Amino acid sequence: MIIFKSFNKLNKKVNFKANIGFVPTMGALHNGHISLIKRSNSICKKTLVSIFINPSQFNKKNDYKKYPRKVETDIKILKKLKVDYLLIPKVSEVYKNKNNMKIRLIKKDKVLCAKYRPGHFEGVLAVINQFLTLIKPKYMFLGQKDYQQLHLIKNFIKNKFFTKVIPCKTIRYKGSLAYSSRNFLLSKNDIKKATYVSKLVKKFYYDLKKDFKKVRKLKELKRKLIKNNLKVEYLELRNKVNLSKKINRSNFKIFISFYINKVRLIDNF
Ligand code: AMP
Repeated sequence: MIIFKSFNKLNKKVNFKANIGFVPTMGALHNGHISLIKRSNSICKKTLVSIFINPSQFNKKNDYKKYPRKVETDIKILKKLKVDYLLIPKVSEVYKNKNNMKIRLIKKDKVLCAKYRPGHFEGVLAVINQFLTLIKPKYMFLGQKDYQQLHLIKNFIKNKFFTKVIPCKTIRYKGSLAYSSRNFLLSKNDIKKATYVSKLVKKFYYDLKKDFKKVRKLKELKRKLIKNNLKVEYLELRNKVNLSKKINRSNFKIFISFYINKVRLIDNF
Protein backbone atom coordinates (compact mmCIF):
# COMPACT_ATOMS: atom_id res chain seq x y z
CA MET A 1 0.00 0.00 0.00
CA ILE A 2 1.33 3.43 -0.94
CA ILE A 3 0.50 6.20 1.52
CA PHE A 4 0.17 9.72 0.12
CA LYS A 5 0.06 12.85 2.23
CA SER A 6 -0.77 15.12 -0.69
CA PHE A 7 -2.94 15.13 -3.82
CA ASN A 8 0.03 16.22 -5.93
CA LYS A 9 2.04 13.12 -5.16
CA LEU A 10 -1.02 10.92 -5.57
CA ASN A 11 -1.78 12.39 -8.99
CA LYS A 12 1.79 11.93 -10.16
CA LYS A 13 1.75 8.28 -9.23
CA VAL A 14 -1.81 7.18 -9.98
CA ASN A 15 -3.50 7.17 -13.36
CA PHE A 16 -7.14 7.93 -12.64
CA LYS A 17 -8.15 6.89 -16.14
CA ALA A 18 -7.70 3.35 -14.85
CA ASN A 19 -10.45 1.51 -13.07
CA ILE A 20 -10.07 2.99 -9.57
CA GLY A 21 -12.52 2.77 -6.69
CA PHE A 22 -12.50 5.54 -4.12
CA VAL A 23 -13.62 5.03 -0.51
CA PRO A 24 -13.66 8.34 1.42
CA THR A 25 -13.57 7.97 5.22
CA MET A 26 -12.78 9.85 8.39
CA GLY A 27 -10.79 6.91 9.75
CA ALA A 28 -11.35 4.94 12.98
CA LEU A 29 -12.18 2.13 10.60
CA HIS A 30 -14.71 -0.58 11.41
CA ASN A 31 -16.65 -3.32 9.65
CA GLY A 32 -18.83 -0.78 7.81
CA HIS A 33 -15.79 0.80 6.14
CA ILE A 34 -14.32 -2.63 5.54
CA SER A 35 -17.41 -3.72 3.60
CA LEU A 36 -17.09 -0.66 1.32
CA ILE A 37 -13.42 -1.44 0.70
CA LYS A 38 -14.15 -5.09 -0.06
CA ARG A 39 -16.84 -4.01 -2.51
CA SER A 40 -14.38 -1.68 -4.23
CA ASN A 41 -11.74 -4.42 -4.34
CA SER A 42 -14.27 -6.74 -5.98
CA ILE A 43 -15.35 -4.27 -8.70
CA CYS A 44 -12.26 -2.16 -9.31
CA LYS A 45 -8.68 -2.91 -10.29
CA LYS A 46 -7.29 -0.59 -7.64
CA THR A 47 -8.75 0.86 -4.45
CA LEU A 48 -7.97 4.27 -3.01
CA VAL A 49 -9.05 4.99 0.58
CA SER A 50 -8.86 8.46 2.07
CA ILE A 51 -8.75 9.37 5.74
CA PHE A 52 -9.68 12.98 6.30
CA ILE A 53 -11.43 14.36 9.36
CA ASN A 54 -13.02 17.38 7.79
CA PRO A 55 -13.21 20.23 10.32
CA SER A 56 -15.88 22.20 8.43
CA GLN A 57 -18.46 19.43 8.68
CA PHE A 58 -18.41 19.52 12.48
CA ASN A 59 -20.78 22.17 13.69
CA LYS A 60 -19.45 21.75 17.25
CA LYS A 61 -15.74 22.24 17.98
CA ASN A 62 -15.74 19.73 20.80
CA ASP A 63 -17.23 17.05 18.56
CA TYR A 64 -14.33 17.57 16.12
CA LYS A 65 -11.78 17.46 18.92
CA LYS A 66 -13.23 14.28 20.40
CA TYR A 67 -13.74 12.43 17.10
CA PRO A 68 -11.81 9.11 17.34
CA ARG A 69 -8.40 9.11 15.64
CA LYS A 70 -6.71 5.74 15.06
CA VAL A 71 -4.43 6.15 12.06
CA GLU A 72 -1.90 3.47 13.05
CA THR A 73 -4.58 0.79 13.50
CA ASP A 74 -6.33 2.00 10.34
CA ILE A 75 -3.13 1.52 8.30
CA LYS A 76 -2.82 -2.05 9.59
CA ILE A 77 -6.43 -2.80 8.64
CA LEU A 78 -5.98 -1.31 5.16
CA LYS A 79 -2.77 -3.24 4.51
CA LYS A 80 -4.51 -6.45 5.50
CA LEU A 81 -7.29 -5.66 3.02
CA LYS A 82 -4.66 -5.15 0.33
CA VAL A 83 -5.75 -1.60 -0.36
CA ASP A 84 -3.52 -0.08 -3.08
CA TYR A 85 -3.46 3.58 -2.07
CA LEU A 86 -4.18 5.56 1.08
CA LEU A 87 -4.54 9.33 0.97
CA ILE A 88 -4.20 11.33 4.19
CA PRO A 89 -4.30 14.94 3.00
CA LYS A 90 -3.64 17.99 5.16
CA VAL A 91 -6.47 20.39 5.98
CA SER A 92 -4.46 23.26 4.44
CA GLU A 93 -4.24 21.46 1.08
CA VAL A 94 -7.91 20.47 0.99
CA TYR A 95 -8.97 24.04 1.76
CA LYS A 96 -6.44 25.70 -0.57
CA ASN A 97 -8.88 26.30 -3.39
CA LYS A 98 -11.58 28.36 -1.68
CA ASN A 99 -13.76 28.52 -4.81
CA ASN A 100 -14.51 24.82 -4.59
CA MET A 101 -15.55 25.17 -0.99
CA LYS A 102 -18.59 27.44 -1.22
CA ILE A 103 -21.60 25.16 -1.25
CA ARG A 104 -25.19 25.98 -0.36
CA LEU A 105 -28.08 23.66 0.33
CA ILE A 106 -31.48 24.45 -1.10
CA LYS A 107 -34.38 24.81 1.32
CA LYS A 108 -35.98 21.45 0.57
CA ASP A 109 -32.74 19.68 1.53
CA LYS A 110 -32.57 21.30 4.96
CA VAL A 111 -34.23 18.42 6.76
CA LEU A 112 -33.06 15.72 9.21
CA CYS A 113 -29.31 16.15 9.89
CA ALA A 114 -29.16 19.24 7.66
CA LYS A 115 -31.68 20.89 9.93
CA TYR A 116 -30.01 19.95 13.19
CA ARG A 117 -26.39 20.30 12.09
CA PRO A 118 -26.25 23.60 10.22
CA GLY A 119 -23.27 23.74 7.88
CA HIS A 120 -22.59 20.00 8.15
CA PHE A 121 -23.50 18.91 4.63
CA GLU A 122 -22.13 22.12 3.13
CA GLY A 123 -18.80 20.97 4.63
CA VAL A 124 -19.21 17.40 3.39
CA LEU A 125 -20.09 18.50 -0.16
CA ALA A 126 -17.26 21.03 -0.26
CA VAL A 127 -14.75 18.31 0.54
CA ILE A 128 -16.27 15.83 -1.92
CA ASN A 129 -16.17 18.58 -4.54
CA GLN A 130 -12.52 19.18 -3.82
CA PHE A 131 -11.60 15.50 -3.79
CA LEU A 132 -13.38 14.73 -7.04
CA THR A 133 -11.90 17.80 -8.72
CA LEU A 134 -8.38 16.80 -7.75
CA ILE A 135 -8.74 13.06 -8.34
CA LYS A 136 -11.18 11.62 -10.81
CA PRO A 137 -12.09 8.14 -9.69
CA LYS A 138 -14.42 6.00 -11.79
CA TYR A 139 -16.32 4.77 -8.75
CA MET A 140 -16.98 6.11 -5.29
CA PHE A 141 -18.30 3.81 -2.55
CA LEU A 142 -20.64 5.31 0.05
CA GLY A 143 -22.60 3.71 2.88
CA GLN A 144 -26.37 3.83 3.32
CA LYS A 145 -25.69 4.28 7.03
CA ASP A 146 -25.35 7.97 6.14
CA TYR A 147 -28.39 7.90 3.89
CA GLN A 148 -28.95 11.64 3.64
CA GLN A 149 -25.26 12.18 2.88
CA LEU A 150 -25.46 9.57 0.13
CA HIS A 151 -28.60 11.23 -1.27
CA LEU A 152 -27.06 14.72 -1.28
CA ILE A 153 -23.72 13.63 -2.72
CA LYS A 154 -25.43 11.66 -5.50
CA ASN A 155 -27.49 14.71 -6.50
CA PHE A 156 -24.58 17.09 -6.12
CA ILE A 157 -22.17 15.24 -8.40
CA LYS A 158 -24.75 14.02 -10.94
CA ASN A 159 -24.10 16.59 -13.66
CA LYS A 160 -20.67 17.66 -12.49
CA PHE A 161 -18.44 14.60 -12.37
CA PHE A 162 -18.41 11.31 -14.23
CA THR A 163 -17.70 9.41 -10.99
CA LYS A 164 -20.34 6.75 -10.38
CA VAL A 165 -21.61 6.37 -6.82
CA ILE A 166 -21.99 2.82 -5.54
CA PRO A 167 -24.32 2.71 -2.49
CA CYS A 168 -23.40 0.03 0.05
CA LYS A 169 -25.70 -1.48 2.64
CA THR A 170 -25.38 -0.72 6.36
CA ILE A 171 -23.32 -3.24 8.30
CA ARG A 172 -24.66 -3.96 11.76
CA TYR A 173 -23.41 -5.67 14.86
CA LYS A 174 -25.50 -8.86 15.19
CA GLY A 175 -28.13 -7.36 12.90
CA SER A 176 -28.96 -4.40 15.12
CA LEU A 177 -26.54 -1.62 16.09
CA ALA A 178 -24.86 -0.07 13.04
CA TYR A 179 -21.07 0.06 13.11
CA SER A 180 -19.92 3.65 13.54
CA SER A 181 -16.61 5.30 14.42
CA ARG A 182 -18.48 7.11 17.16
CA ASN A 183 -19.15 3.75 18.85
CA PHE A 184 -15.48 3.91 19.93
CA LEU A 185 -16.55 6.77 22.22
CA LEU A 186 -19.16 4.64 24.02
CA SER A 187 -18.84 2.46 27.12
CA LYS A 188 -20.17 -1.11 27.18
CA ASN A 189 -23.30 0.12 28.87
CA ASP A 190 -23.75 2.89 26.29
CA ILE A 191 -23.44 0.31 23.52
CA LYS A 192 -26.24 -1.66 25.19
CA LYS A 193 -28.45 1.44 25.20
CA ALA A 194 -27.67 2.20 21.56
CA THR A 195 -28.41 -1.41 20.62
CA TYR A 196 -31.75 -1.14 22.42
CA VAL A 197 -32.64 1.89 20.27
CA SER A 198 -31.75 0.21 17.00
CA LYS A 199 -33.70 -2.91 17.95
CA LEU A 200 -36.81 -0.84 18.72
CA VAL A 201 -36.58 1.21 15.54
CA LYS A 202 -35.92 -1.87 13.44
CA LYS A 203 -38.95 -3.60 14.94
CA PHE A 204 -41.08 -0.54 14.21
CA TYR A 205 -39.85 -0.61 10.60
CA TYR A 206 -40.97 -4.23 10.17
CA ASP A 207 -44.27 -3.54 11.95
CA LEU A 208 -44.95 -0.75 9.45
CA LYS A 209 -44.03 -2.97 6.53
CA LYS A 210 -46.74 -5.37 7.69
CA ASP A 211 -49.31 -2.77 8.63
CA PHE A 212 -48.68 0.81 7.56
CA LYS A 213 -51.58 2.07 9.67
CA LYS A 214 -49.28 1.69 12.66
CA VAL A 215 -47.54 4.84 11.44
CA ARG A 216 -49.64 6.60 14.10
CA LYS A 217 -47.48 4.90 16.73
CA LEU A 218 -44.37 6.86 15.80
CA LYS A 219 -44.95 9.37 18.60
CA GLU A 220 -45.40 6.51 21.05
CA LEU A 221 -42.03 5.10 20.03
CA LYS A 222 -40.38 8.48 20.50
CA ARG A 223 -41.95 8.81 23.95
CA LYS A 224 -40.69 5.35 24.88
CA LEU A 225 -37.14 6.27 23.92
CA ILE A 226 -37.30 9.55 25.84
CA LYS A 227 -38.70 7.73 28.86
CA ASN A 228 -35.55 5.60 28.78
CA ASN A 229 -33.46 8.75 29.24
CA LEU A 230 -32.44 8.98 25.60
CA LYS A 231 -32.21 12.36 23.96
CA VAL A 232 -33.90 11.92 20.60
CA GLU A 233 -32.98 14.69 18.15
CA TYR A 234 -35.29 13.44 15.43
CA LEU A 235 -37.29 10.34 14.62
CA GLU A 236 -39.01 10.75 11.29
CA LEU A 237 -40.45 8.83 8.40
CA ARG A 238 -39.42 10.11 4.99
CA ASN A 239 -39.64 9.17 1.35
CA LYS A 240 -36.54 7.13 0.53
CA VAL A 241 -36.19 8.57 -2.97
CA ASN A 242 -36.33 12.31 -2.26
CA LEU A 243 -36.52 12.55 1.56
CA SER A 244 -39.85 14.40 1.33
CA LYS A 245 -42.75 13.67 3.68
CA LYS A 246 -44.78 12.03 0.90
CA ILE A 247 -44.67 8.52 2.19
CA ASN A 248 -46.52 5.28 1.76
CA ARG A 249 -46.05 1.65 2.66
CA SER A 250 -43.50 0.97 -0.06
CA ASN A 251 -41.41 4.16 -0.20
CA PHE A 252 -40.81 5.04 3.45
CA LYS A 253 -37.67 4.95 5.52
CA ILE A 254 -37.24 5.67 9.23
CA PHE A 255 -34.53 8.11 10.23
CA ILE A 256 -33.26 8.62 13.75
CA SER A 257 -30.68 10.78 15.44
CA PHE A 258 -30.13 10.44 19.18
CA TYR A 259 -27.57 11.14 21.85
CA ILE A 260 -25.97 8.80 24.34
CA ASN A 261 -23.80 10.71 26.81
CA LYS A 262 -23.21 13.57 24.39
CA VAL A 263 -22.27 11.15 21.59
CA ARG A 264 -24.54 11.71 18.61
CA LEU A 265 -25.59 8.61 16.67
CA ILE A 266 -27.68 8.32 13.51
CA ASP A 267 -29.33 5.40 11.79
CA ASN A 268 -32.00 4.53 9.28
CA PHE A 269 -34.09 1.48 8.39
P1 AMP B 1 -17.16 7.99 7.93
O1 AMP B 1 -15.76 7.52 8.21
O2 AMP B 1 -18.05 7.90 9.11
O3 AMP B 1 -17.18 9.33 7.25
O4 AMP B 1 -17.77 6.96 6.88
C1 AMP B 1 -17.12 6.69 5.66
C2 AMP B 1 -18.05 5.88 4.80
O5 AMP B 1 -18.37 4.65 5.45
C3 AMP B 1 -19.38 6.59 4.51
O6 AMP B 1 -19.73 6.37 3.16
C4 AMP B 1 -20.32 5.91 5.46
O7 AMP B 1 -21.66 5.91 5.03
C5 AMP B 1 -19.77 4.49 5.47
N1 AMP B 1 -20.21 3.77 6.68
C6 AMP B 1 -20.11 4.18 7.96
N2 AMP B 1 -20.66 3.26 8.80
C7 AMP B 1 -21.13 2.27 8.01
C8 AMP B 1 -21.82 1.03 8.27
N3 AMP B 1 -22.13 0.63 9.51
N4 AMP B 1 -22.15 0.26 7.21
C9 AMP B 1 -21.85 0.63 5.95
N5 AMP B 1 -21.19 1.77 5.64
C10 AMP B 1 -20.84 2.59 6.65
